[in-house]
Amino acid sequence: MKKQLDLPAYFNWRRLKAGVLVTGDLGGWALLKPAEFKLFAAGKLKSGPAFEALRRAGLLRSRLDFDSIFTDWRDSNEYLRLGPGLHIMVLTEKCNHSCVYCQAGSGAGRNMSPATARRAVDFAFSAPVSGLTLEFQGGEPLVNWAALKEASIYARKKAEKTGKGLALALVSNFSLMDEKKADFIVANDISLCTSLDGPADLHNANRKFSGGDSHAVAAKWIKYFQERRGAEPPGGPSALLTVTRASLGRAREIVDEYARLKLPYVFLKPLSPIGDALKRWDEIGYTPEEFLGFYREGLDRVLELNRRGVPIKEKTAFLAVKKIIGTQDNRYVDLRCPCGAGLGQLAYDCDGGVYTCDEGRMLARGGDRSFRLGSVLKDAYAGVISSEPVKACAISSSLDLQPVCARCAYKPFCGACPAYNQAAQGGFWGSMPSNGRCRTLIGVFDYIFEKLSEKPVFDIFEKWIARS
Ligand code: SF4
Ligand code: SF4
Repeated sequence: MKKQLDLPAYFNWRRLKAGVLVTGDLGGWALLKPAEFKLFAAGKLKSGPAFEALRRAGLLRSRLDFDSIFTDWRDSNEYLRLGPGLHIMVLTEKCNHSCVYCQAGSGAGRNMSPATARRAVDFAFSAPVSGLTLEFQGGEPLVNWAALKEASIYARKKAEKTGKGLALALVSNFSLMDEKKADFIVANDISLCTSLDGPADLHNANRKFSGGDSHAVAAKWIKYFQERRGAEPPGGPSALLTVTRASLGRAREIVDEYARLKLPYVFLKPLSPIGDALKRWDEIGYTPEEFLGFYREGLDRVLELNRRGVPIKEKTAFLAVKKIIGTQDNRYVDLRCPCGAGLGQLAYDCDGGVYTCDEGRMLARGGDRSFRLGSVLKDAYAGVISSEPVKACAISSSLDLQPVCARCAYKPFCGACPAYNQAAQGGFWGSMPSNGRCRTLIGVFDYIFEKLSEKPVFDIFEKWIARS
């Protein structure tokens, strides 16, 4: 009987350069030497630092702490009973840029009417959450300033009336920003995110703007809002990077540009072959392996800058280490299990159409309405949230139900994306062995765990999550 006591608990594993990674379903992990792993797997490891690490990680069957297992499980799944907290409102399809990865344009696109915007706000507030974020997107949302203003004022009143917490956020290229709009944004506490694809030549090649220098405009307003509200989030602006084929080989310069503009994060993530980007994939796309080379170069540069005292973070690594060493839900809807489609977020199109997420909405623009849940103009929240696409997304992004994911060492930190699977492989389930997103995630997690095995990098990552 005593011999059985230190048998392994249920685990998955993966061989890395730094050792053998062993993970448990709730995110406990240990990096073992190959000889230690052999003993552990045979139930013969009885003492020593590796034994202690495995015990602390909840990977030894007789040493499980059921109280903390229960608390961790409850905390990391709490969002499932709360409803969607992120509500993305697409205020317009129009834009004054012609970016190579997007085909929104200033021509025939639709605007959301102020009346529909109010209905979308009402709909978002009917989610049974205590606090929500309304994120204004487009096209370029400043094209439809009337709806943005209406929705912001109406939502603030609604928050006061209902007692719900409210965060307002705007994703804009800043080209239509002026002092008057900036005053409204500051007065209504709207957080800001813009696009920045790197140094001026790269940014402007990706983000074509007939009205002038897109990079100069973005840089000008980043600085303006930093001076008015500080550089740190939530007041200070953040930026999103789109990586195209032209970005490959330039990761260091891109990171340096983010650091030069005092942006707190650079988010190195691959372009998804969804919607408009898919149509030009041969021209702007790349393989997962090409992206991983870019990712490693970029993360190395971020860490190098940290060692020199520049406090920039790489967001993919930040979100991952928050789960890996912080064991907290990182609130990032695309790396949850099940994913955030309907459960963590909803997206509202200009016509009031409700979608599981913005990616699902983009697929509808190409004619695939699989992720459409209803309309704020005629459907109630309860029906929409229990509709078939929400259930299909929840099931297909449950990693225990995905055969390859169920045995993957990265399962506790990862998330599958039904919208990506639908776009790239023709079904919500996808097929992980040939799934480009999965190949990218495996490579990213491999590199993050390799880095975590270096004590100075582990310390940097710890600082990142301590400050967040
Ligand atoms: S998507 Fe890929 S990396 Fe993520 S859990 Fe599944 S198999 Fe692992
Ligand atoms: S389907 Fe994909 S994009 Fe949509 S919420 Fe899920 S993970 Fe995110």
